[in-house]
Amino acid sequence: MKKPTADEKRHRCTRKRRYRSEGAALDAALVAGVARQRKAYRCPLCGHWHLASF
Ligand SMILES: [Zn+2]
Repeated sequence: MKKPTADEKRHRCTRKRRYRSEGAALDAALVAGVARQRKAYRCPLCGHWHLASF
């Protein structure tokens, strides 16, 4: 597996929805019915929160 490039990392951020807080992100996951598969993480690129699937 090759390491993700900076561009790929940025893409991972920009194509995702941003949330103001962890709570907002988890709320959105709950509404989508995917809360159990989702975790929110603080994005180092934009400083907002994204949902990550694990
Ligand atoms: Zn981001």
